[in-house]
Amino acid sequence: MVAPQQFTDFIDQNADRFIQRLGEAIAIPSISGDASRRGDVFKMADWLEGQLNKYGVKTEKIPLGKQQIEGQTLDLPPAILGRIGDDPKKKTILLYGHFDVQPADKSDGWDHEPFQMHYDKASGKIFGRGSTDDKGPILGWLNVLDAHHTLKLDLPVNLRFCFEGMEESGSEGLDELIASEAAKKEQGWFAGVDAVCISDNYWLNTRTPCLTYGLRGIAYYQLNISGPGADLHSGIYGGSVFEPMTALITLMGKLVTQDGRILIPGVYDGIQAADANELKKYEDLDYSIDDLESAAGGKIANSAERSTVLMGRMRNPSLSLHGIEGAYSGAGAKTVIPASVNGKFSLRLVPPQTPEDITKKVIAYVESEFAKLNTRLNMKIEYLHGGKPWVADPSHWNFEAAKKATEAVYLQTPNYTREGGSIPVTLTFADNLGVNIMLLPMGRADDGAHSTNEKLDASNFIKGSKLLGTYLYEVGEITKS
Ligand SMILES: [Zn+2]
Repeated sequence: MVAPQQFTDFIDQNADRFIQRLGEAIAIPSISGDASRRGDVFKMADWLEGQLNKYGVKTEKIPLGKQQIEGQTLDLPPAILGRIGDDPKKKTILLYGHFDVQPADKSDGWDHEPFQMHYDKASGKIFGRGSTDDKGPILGWLNVLDAHHTLKLDLPVNLRFCFEGMEESGSEGLDELIASEAAKKEQGWFAGVDAVCISDNYWLNTRTPCLTYGLRGIAYYQLNISGPGADLHSGIYGGSVFEPMTALITLMGKLVTQDGRILIPGVYDGIQAADANELKKYEDLDYSIDDLESAAGGKIANSAERSTVLMGRMRNPSLSLHGIEGAYSGAGAKTVIPASVNGKFSLRLVPPQTPEDITKKVIAYVESEFAKLNTRLNMKIEYLHGGKPWVADPSHWNFEAAKKATEAVYLQTPNYTREGGSIPVTLTFADNLGVNIMLLPMGRADDGAHSTNEKLDASNFIKGSKLLGTYLYEVGEITKS
């Protein structure tokens, strides 16, 4: 272990106090999506800034403008930018986290009040909204700062901070802030940043720490078919008119096969096959088809090959059909012919796919397939929203440092994962700073981040705090030359 014993001992000795502090943070219901809680998001920003300042971090609260929400104009919560350490001989690491949370109410099915920490000592679980997403990880960094400040230890790296209060509501205002700080170069808060570390995702399972080096992008579409002026009765019109639903289902059936192969021409263009090195990463992952099926709640894996299943989730594009709006969906046996139906589907993207490029291919394909149907119906295909995929180099020193730290703290080699979902700020940092970005999660797959009874295991919080600190020491060590 390259981190000083003093540091890791301090984390252990102060575990109870750290958990109490997490309780303080959980008690501030900083729900960014609820206008009536906006004051609490500001309160949470004050609380967090106070904690950072206590440990010598210089901070600035950056106002991000205004927002329309629930018919009101509200101030957006500020982002907190911070810095500690200016040693040119040390690496500079930028840390990102968010201090806002998802809504929660006891009546949603929580066993305890979501905004009062419930620490169940028997199971070692810390329950509360924000425990794992993302107050636990943010407080992990505070624990590291606390230890160094109290023990009068020098940090092994220079740190920069970017904490926001709108992550759960689309990170409004943050992209512009990151771009403008990056454009200020040496004058900006992100001057000299060598790498970024984001702790805001989860392990792949409940037993193996992980490092995440990729996120898939998304492109979401709505396909409308219409024709009749109103819903029709099949007893009167069935057999004599072209029916929108029949056309829609035919088209949606031409998008993807049962085993997940996307049928849109050109959609796989440029995607590299996994090389031996990458294949080995999937083979080495501590993850079973049982893990997938128990999480999915059904024996439905689309391959018996573990690496095929993992690549399907992490590194290959996918296409999912989500719904049909306007179709009859009630109970019983209504004989309607719906007049206008919207099919919803989306693709998860991987490099080099982009929403722009894929949209062209999707539209061309759907138009040509619709023409082949030779109906007199109307078709409209619309791109609703999307985001680019992201992949980092997992052999970069940033990852190497986190791997060594994981081995030192958890005595386990981490899983290297790419995730199916997206954390858009990752891409914003990648595009604007051009440095390596690593996702270093603290919590487990079963934490229930946006769900009821959200929890963080106390062991993940305490070992996770050691992991974050040890990672900084490994960065200091690896990059010494
Ligand atoms: Zn989060």
